[in-house]
Amino acid sequence: MPYQAGHRLPPERASRLGHLDVLKSRLVKKLCESFEDPDQVGVSANPVWEKIPSNGEPLTLVFGIDGSLQIIESETPPHKALGFVKTALLRLDQAALSSIDKDSPHPFALRDILADSALYHATVFPLRHVVVPDMSTYDAIRQAIFESVKDASLRGEPMETLKWIAYEKWDGRNKGLPPFECPHCGHGRSNATLPYDTEEGNCAECGGHLFLTDMLGFHQEMAVESAPDSIASSYMAIHETLLLFTGIRYFWEHNKAALSQCLFVKDGPLSIRAQYSKLVAPIRRFLSHAKDTNCPVHIIGQEKSGTFFDHLQLIGRGAPLEHLFVPGDLYIKEEIQHRPSTGAVYGKDTNYGAKVFVKLNQYHQMVLNIPTGAHKANPNSSELIGVKRIFATIPKILSNRYEGALLPIELANGVASLSTYPSAHILKIFAESTIRRAP
Ligand SMILES: [Zn+2]
Repeated sequence: MPYQAGHRLPPERASRLGHLDVLKSRLVKKLCESFEDPDQVGVSANPVWEKIPSNGEPLTLVFGIDGSLQIIESETPPHKALGFVKTALLRLDQAALSSIDKDSPHPFALRDILADSALYHATVFPLRHVVVPDMSTYDAIRQAIFESVKDASLRGEPMETLKWIAYEKWDGRNKGLPPFECPHCGHGRSNATLPYDTEEGNCAECGGHLFLTDMLGFHQEMAVESAPDSIASSYMAIHETLLLFTGIRYFWEHNKAALSQCLFVKDGPLSIRAQYSKLVAPIRRFLSHAKDTNCPVHIIGQEKSGTFFDHLQLIGRGAPLEHLFVPGDLYIKEEIQHRPSTGAVYGKDTNYGAKVFVKLNQYHQMVLNIPTGAHKANPNSSELIGVKRIFATIPKILSNRYEGALLPIELANGVASLSTYPSAHILKIFAESTIRRAP
């Protein structure tokens, strides 16, 4: 970093001249030139594009799921910090889809859809230096996570969904919970569990209180008196997944025939990272079970940033229109992750959807994730669950406001976006008063 400005002399400038010597090397010169030229970048393996299947029947009911988060930090030391998280699910039926102008949606039409068909969840976590009487930040956050998943405004449905996934309740086999690290005495050992279908209990070793949400391992990210911002983003990702599967579970339990007419569109990849990936294996087993019992569940996740999105910018330009490309394990490791091909299979523990690059037309290209049920290292397009019906539906939910944008995500984002609803300013006022109340 350069020196700061003094009283008599101007500040030091980071000099570009110092790098000139190295430009005398012909190799370095070439490298610098190609760095500037976007056309020079290529991929060594050729993506295998295939025609998008065209003979599917469109799905009639579409759901969008999205979340947002905001960390509010007080400006004066000790910089108290609160994490606000909001997630939303909204429903778009045929009438709603046909009433929206995809180029410039009328605000009243949107307002009606949001009023009738959206539900959202909001919560807050005390991340740092926010005192909760008689409780460490560690325990306060554990309890806040448990109570937030039980959110009364959603009638506790996401908690029912967590139990449904964790105990694999769809096939009636009363499956026990896999052991997890006790937040009190575990210290790296998977030594705790809970009886079938329970939400709370006690550790058999230390007697400490356990929440079902502890099995996800939020406590493994925290210190006793402070938590990183990533707690809020992990919670958001988990809650989005729970909202998605709350919709799926509802239809599974009440109207299976309708479930296979639904498309669930989630913002972000269909994956759960690190210790939270415990939910991935049961989710895959459910999706396989549903497919095998003739009730395919249609889900897509859309990646709007990250390495796969960047890779699409690279290969999408030369891609044929109305084509898709499902990369295999080797392609992903070598061309996208740039890591040795001998390493672990990509996404084996964390993903419940395969990556799909899509070039729809001149204006729309996107990175989607589509489940295959059991994990496939090298999926082919026919293994993507409901691929024909999904691609018959996508043209009906395209938004023309942004490249590759999908209406359900755009609208869910409007509901979930904290900066617009309620305004960040209101949140800040709320945060300041909460912070002041604490002793
Ligand atoms: Zn214990």
